[in-house]
Amino acid sequence: MPSKKVDSERKYECHRCWVEMDKTEIEIFGPNLIIDVCPKCNGIWLDKGELDKLLKDRKLANYLTKHIGTKSKSPMICPRCAMTMDIEKADDVEVDVCLNCGGVWLDECELDRLKEKSKEGYKGDPLVKQEEIKEEKRFKARNSRLNKFLNKIKK
Ligand SMILES: [Zn+2]
Ligand SMILES: [Zn+2]
Repeated sequence: MPSKKVDSERKYECHRCWVEMDKTEIEIFGPNLIIDVCPKCNGIWLDKGELDKLLKDRKLANYLTKHIGTKSKSPMICPRCAMTMDIEKADDVEVDVCLNCGGVWLDECELDRLKEKSKEGYKGDPLVKQEEIKEEKRFKARNSRLNKFLNKIKK
């Protein structure tokens, strides 16, 4: 993909190699996208919504970044907000998604592999998603019970 380096104030560090990532401008249809690329491992950091623009496959991007549950299965820490991340799978491609900000970490080649999945028509596995949606519901229910309890003791 055509890309060039750009200067920008806010830089993130790659949480695999602990080096500053380069802001890289990617030409896409519409306004160009500025993403963070690690100069060492070539990993890519995408803020929320950017995967959709890069993949041009909303269904697959949503599958990977929406309703991702609450449990962290990834050892990685989000380069943007330092919160825990989860592993989301598109078939055999595993990507790290931040449970807090919804940003996505892609190792080298993973974007290309996701594009291939998209071309093949892969839209995600509804059974896997069901489990994570349940997890989110349980978490929300627990939180609302906790809030009710806290409200009671405040009174
Ligand atoms: Zn790196
Ligand atoms: Zn984050």
